[in-house]
Order: sequence, then structure tokens, then C-alpha cells
Amino acid sequence: MNDALAPGSVIGILGGGQLGRMLSVAASRLGYACHIYEPGAHPPAGHVAAKVTTAPYEDEAALRAFAAAVDVITYEFENVPTSALDLLESLRPIRPNRRALAISQDRIAEKDFLTGIGLTTAPYAAVTTAADLDRALLKIGHPAILKTTRLGYDGKGQARIMDLSKAAPALAAMQGAPAVLEGFIDFSHEVSVIVARGADGSVAAYDPGENVHREGILRTTTVPARLSPSQRSDAVLIAARIANALEYVGVMGVELFVTGAGLVVNEIAPRVHNSGHWTQQGCAVDQFEQHIRAVAGLPLGDGSRFADVVMENLIGDDVLRVPQLLRETDCSLHLYGKGAPRPGRKMGHVNRSQPRR
Ligand code: AMP
Repeated sequence: MNDALAPGSVIGILGGGQLGRMLSVAASRLGYACHIYEPGAHPPAGHVAAKVTTAPYEDEAALRAFAAAVDVITYEFENVPTSALDLLESLRPIRPNRRALAISQDRIAEKDFLTGIGLTTAPYAAVTTAADLDRALLKIGHPAILKTTRLGYDGKGQARIMDLSKAAPALAAMQGAPAVLEGFIDFSHEVSVIVARGADGSVAAYDPGENVHREGILRTTTVPARLSPSQRSDAVLIAARIANALEYVGVMGVELFVTGAGLVVNEIAPRVHNSGHWTQQGCAVDQFEQHIRAVAGLPLGDGSRFADVVMENLIGDDVLRVPQLLRETDCSLHLYGKGAPRPGRKMGHVNRSQPRR
């Protein structure tokens, strides 16, 4: 697929959550239709997408019918089973490519890749057994964090080992799943870069945002982030190096720890990212449109920022504050059309913006 998708073409999206919802809105503004593939009922993206397939990722007939109905496939969720991707890839182009997905699904493959292209990550070692953990703790020391290598998100599947008495309980918490021990990074704050790479190899990065997490879940992203000019260019160059090395097409989130000894890459997300929602009120072309442009083979927007923005996630009962939020000036509300609020459930977000200082 070298040419840009013609208006009216259909973009297939694996996953129907809020990211798929906002991608669908952006795609429709560019004249495309979206077809969502989602195993769960009532996906948030279903309200705005042209079509929804509700079927498990193991349903070969449904996957074939989905592929036949779309022109290109992208995803808003990185844990799509390999078997589904193998089949889909044989039928339609998948953007971003499988390598990016495979690397981000496995924390060890991710760190091997990142260190292999000369970037700094936390020191790490693979751990499955108690003997592995003893060896890893000898190599890396403590404090350290034990994380499942796969299927971890929002701080799930992680246990901190602040002293050696916590080692055995941390391993037990992994329930036998392969894990990685990471040295504890003494960082001052966390930032992320949202970077896009087009089908023509051009790269555009947004200004880094500063992220604050609570209970493992992103609460706020603030732009500009507290970074020196050299740290800011480093952050963007790191993200661009990753996108180029993967021959990536689409938008990617790169999470970084800021330390006295430089920037340390925490992880990459091969999709639009919660810490990029600020771009909706901060840039002429937001991350969702940027991703659709890349996937559709259109030229990228430049990503310059015209506003200072604080993005706040509305998690669980935060959504009950909507009446007050609507009365604030310079506050843009984005709700995801989900059902009842539950603790930890991302219900929406707000972007508070003011002209760039
Ligand atoms: P992750 O799921 O890997 O993004 O980790 C969730 C959060 O745990 C991060 O945003 C950090 O605040 C913290 N964290 C993860 N890895 C490390 C590390 N190696 N050192 C210090 N803090 C970490």
C-alpha cells in the first residue's frame, strides 16, 4: 500500500475502548469510516464507528470477514493474540507493524531492543524461579521491581522489592508467570513523548508531557514538562530513534524517567497513548488524527504546540464532577460513553488549556 487511502476507505481498528473511539472520530473528520473489532459488548468506540464486529480474537471466520471489509488494520490495544494477527496480516496490511507489537508485548524483548539500539533502560534480568530471582537480585541489587513480562498495564502485575524479605512474596505474586526484575530507578519525574512516523519515513514528535500516576494509573499530563532544553531534545531524539529502528508507521508513546544521569526509557506503547490526550487542545493536529494520517498514508501534521495544557483523567467517581467541570473556563471535556463508574475505570478526561507562554 504505497498510495494514500482514498476518501471513503475503511480503517479497521482492533479494540473498541476510548482510544478506538477517539481514533474513529478523527478518521471520520478525514473522510474515512472505521470498523471496530472488539470481543466485549457495548464498546465505547461503537457509538461513533461506522461498524462493529463483536467476536472473540479466536473466531477465524469473523476475523476473515473483518479483514475483507476493511482497507487497512490498526489497533488501540497491544495484547491482541498472535494467532489473530497472523491471520489478519496475511489478508490486509497492519500498521504499526507486527515487530512493534511483539516488542511492546514482552518487557524483556522490549528492553533487549531498546538497549540494542543504544538507549538506556533500567538494569533487568529474566526471572521465573526462586533461583533466578536470587541470581537477579545479586546482579541488580535492591530496591527493585518484579514485573510480569507480558500483559502488565496500569501498574498491574508488579511487585516492589524494597528489602530482601519482600523477594519471596513478590515472586509468589507473579503466580508462576515469567517475570523481569528491574533495578529501581531513582527518578525525579516521568515524562512521555508522543511520536509519529509516516509511511514515507517522516517523523513528527509532540512536545514531551510530564506524567503523574496514582495507584499505578495516569492522573495528569502537563505540557510543557519540566525539562531543560537539552533534555527536551534528547527525549524527542530517543523517541524518533525508536520509531525509525522499528520502521514504525503510526503514533507511539515513549515513557521516560528523568534522572540526574539522563533519560531512562521505561516502556513504549505502539499506539495512541493516554499521555497524548493533551494534544486535542494543544495542537492543530492531535495524536488521533496524526495516527490516522500515518496509517492512511497521508502526510503527517507537524505537531507544534500552541497551548499549555494540563490533561486530567476522570477515573471512577471523578466523573461525578462533570457538572462543575462544565462550568470551568478553558476546560474541554471528553467522556467515553462508558456505563457505571467503577474504581480505577477511565471514564473520560479534561484538558485545561491556556495560550502557550
Ligand atoms: P510500568 O507499568 O512499567 O509503566 O510501571 C508503572 C509505574 O511504576 C511507572 O510509571 C513508575 O512510576 C513505576 N516504575 C516502573 N518501573 C520502575 C523502575 N524500574 N524504577 C522505578 N519506578 C518504576
